[in-house]
Amino acid sequence: MPTFQSRKQNFETVKNNIFDLIIIGGGIVGAGTARDAALRGLKVALFEKNDFSAGTSSQSTKLIHGGLRYLKNYDFFLVREAALERKKLIEIAPHLCDIRDFIVPNYKWSQDHFLLLRLGLIGYDVLSFPKNLGLHKWYNKNKIEKIEPLIENDELRGAGIIKDVMTNDSRLVIANLQNAATEGASIINYCRVENINKKDEYYDVKIIDLENGDKYSVKTKMVINATGPWSDIVSKKFDAKHNNKLRLTWGAHLVLNKKSGTHPVLIVNKDGRAVFLIPHEKFDIIGTTDIDYKGDPDLIAPTEFDKDYILSSINSILPNNKYSNEDILSAFSGLRPLVLKKTDTSEGKVSRKHLIRVEENGVITAIGGKLTTYRLMAKEIVDKSIKILKLKKSEHKCLTGDYPVFGGDFEYKNKNIYFQNEKNRLEKDFGIDEETSSFIVKQLGSEVKILDPILIQHGVEKISNNNYLLTAMIIYYIQYEFARTPIDILRRRTWIMLEKGNGLNILDQVIDIMTSELNWDDKTKNMMKKRTIDYINNFMKIT
Ligand SMILES: Cc1cc2nc3c(=O)[nH]c(=O)nc-3n(C[C@H](O)[C@H](O)[C@H](O)COP(=O)(O)OP(=O)(O)OC[C@H]3O[C@@H](n4cnc5c(N)ncnc54)[C@H](O)[C@@H]3O)c2cc1C
Repeated sequence: MPTFQSRKQNFETVKNNIFDLIIIGGGIVGAGTARDAALRGLKVALFEKNDFSAGTSSQSTKLIHGGLRYLKNYDFFLVREAALERKKLIEIAPHLCDIRDFIVPNYKWSQDHFLLLRLGLIGYDVLSFPKNLGLHKWYNKNKIEKIEPLIENDELRGAGIIKDVMTNDSRLVIANLQNAATEGASIINYCRVENINKKDEYYDVKIIDLENGDKYSVKTKMVINATGPWSDIVSKKFDAKHNNKLRLTWGAHLVLNKKSGTHPVLIVNKDGRAVFLIPHEKFDIIGTTDIDYKGDPDLIAPTEFDKDYILSSINSILPNNKYSNEDILSAFSGLRPLVLKKTDTSEGKVSRKHLIRVEENGVITAIGGKLTTYRLMAKEIVDKSIKILKLKKSEHKCLTGDYPVFGGDFEYKNKNIYFQNEKNRLEKDFGIDEETSSFIVKQLGSEVKILDPILIQHGVEKISNNNYLLTAMIIYYIQYEFARTPIDILRRRTWIMLEKGNGLNILDQVIDIMTSELNWDDKTKNMMKKRTIDYINNFMKIT
């Protein structure tokens, strides 16, 4: 059974050690880099000022995809790189990958003639070779309306069907961090990097524990700035003359009452922008907008404009299945940390290519990229670090493509059998019902047994009669997934906050369990409740 250091133990470790790498930022890029470096035997610490994945990495469309729409920008290299990487992620994180048939409809009014779309689909197949998940198909109007009646529309010409992957962005971050932690990395959330100074051969990194205000100074040979949308702000902490390298574009999603079938749909809107309709078990996610943003990355929240744009886009092509304001359960938005180019292109056309820069003082900064390509970004960062640290490459090879992330230790093709066996076991050994066991198995993958001792100690009591969350799962999130606040549990370890009611009906119970696990006093309990309600009102609802 893997063991994880407590937050307190992690602070003791960072106080008393010199690190090879300190990573700033616990989004997917930081998490992937921590895993890669720890697997190569480097001494690693990662600091995240909020919760892990609280930045862009919980606000994505949650797809592992080549990015069919980037073909229109002639971004062939990016599409190929992402399409090949998609297959690798299915191998190393099968529990977090769900291969689906995506529908790409073409209408009489579509900007692209259907022959051009068909050419694009062939190109997507070719660029995915030899790691295709299956070649595309083309269905006429009648056939497509049969498999997905939702998209019935007089103006529909036909549709392509391509295979791509749905994922859970936050849990992919956590699975990478769990893996890094089991390999000895010190991983701390709610801990902000305040300053970085180079002193002789080491960097002196000043951090603050945001739970109690304690400050520490940590020594390291290298620093990685993996702060995504915050990377220019962080770069200015060690280089006052830093010129901005980022172009931030904001994208929002609506979470709506479920009307869809089982097929995700990629629609190219009348204005040429792509809108995804992604069907999840309990809701549909639709997005996204793509608009330049120059404000504070901490204050990004969905707006009335996002709501109107997304609803009108989707409703214009679903005449029989219109979504209304009343269908909105929640909303979320994030910032794409794209690479700033001198030439002026519209937001949707900015390349998603990544850039790994070694700054003048030796700090490595990562920007751009996609959730899908995080492992490649991490590899490039650690390869560069190995070189700068003058370590032997042959003794520190990248292993992230060969080992599963935490929970991913089975083959995708055996997933259904594996899940069924584990569900049967949870039902037989603990009497856990189908909905709850299915939820647990999908979340924990090959590590379900970690939960056994917690179930034995705390029982199988549900947090409330009409919820699938067990008290034991909350304890698990605290002990094994670094959860520190109710928002961590309701928004990122689970998606309960996206669902109807935003989890408010179980908030008191979550806080009570966290209180006994984390020894909160009354002041902390009240603060946590207020903070959660404020978060829902300010960031999960349309203002
Ligand atoms: C709307 C939208 C949809 C998208 N959909 C997809 C998709 O479907 N598929 C795909 O492949 N990609 C998608 N992307 C892109 C993908 O989500 C991002 O490229 C990726 O999540 C960026 O990760 P990151 O680690 O660079 O940044 P982040 O996830 O933002 O992580 C940076 C972290 O740094 C922390 N930080 C900042 N300052 C400090 C400090 N001083 N000290 C400590 N920590 C600090 C922040 O709190 C933050 O958590 C989407 C992006 C957007 C915006």
